[in-house]
Amino acid sequence: MEKALIASAQAMRAAGLNKGTAGNLSCRLVREGRDGFLITPTGMDYAALTPEDIPWVAVESGEFTGKRKPSSEWRFHRDLYAARPEVGAVLHAHSPFAVSLACLGRDIPPFHYMIARFGGDSIRCGDYALFGTQALSDAALAALKDRTACLLANHGMLVCGRDLKQALDLGVELESLCEQYWRASLLGEPRLLDAKEMTAVLEKFEGYGRQDEHDMKTGDKD
Ligand code: 13P
Ligand code: ZN
Repeated sequence: MEKALIASAQAMRAAGLNKGTAGNLSCRLVREGRDGFLITPTGMDYAALTPEDIPWVAVESGEFTGKRKPSSEWRFHRDLYAARPEVGAVLHAHSPFAVSLACLGRDIPPFHYMIARFGGDSIRCGDYALFGTQALSDAALAALKDRTACLLANHGMLVCGRDLKQALDLGVELESLCEQYWRASLLGEPRLLDAKEMTAVLEKFEGYGRQDEHDMKTGDKD
């Protein structure tokens, strides 16, 4: 599991989501019956990480084991695992377009139907708070209510998924949406989808991508 976390952290860098030691990544791991998670260590270059560098943090107490200190943002990772049993991985990045929008401190409106991929008709921007604090974790969890992603004001993005692959995929998708919104806004005021249009997208997403449920015989076209 440590190796998978390192590979995903390196993939996050390769995908352009992070530079330097910005950002962090974690995945849930139950150890000896205790709920917890593996997380990238604070301030370390992902390129040189080995499995021994990866701390494990207990969800209940926040205590950690291992020779390295966990990410300074372990609180919002911990609080997400505690509050949302469906979450198996959490990604935080300072990717350029997400940061640009987060510095405006505004929610991303439904300018594109793919906003619904993150659970609702907007991607909220959580209030600003100092990095690594409980106040930031509280702001992040509020912004993530019924969503799988949010922006953190004057900071970056936060995404959660069922596993590392999904968290990474969603992080890349969110950065892409932020870039599209930024580009469209340069040309004018993007037309927003209305509540009815977004409800239809959210309903359609419920069955989207499930190859196993496709009925070959009836040839379900939509
Ligand atoms: P860490 O190196 O402690 O994970 O901090 C990076 C970061 O993005 C803080 O918000
Ligand atoms: Zn950060």
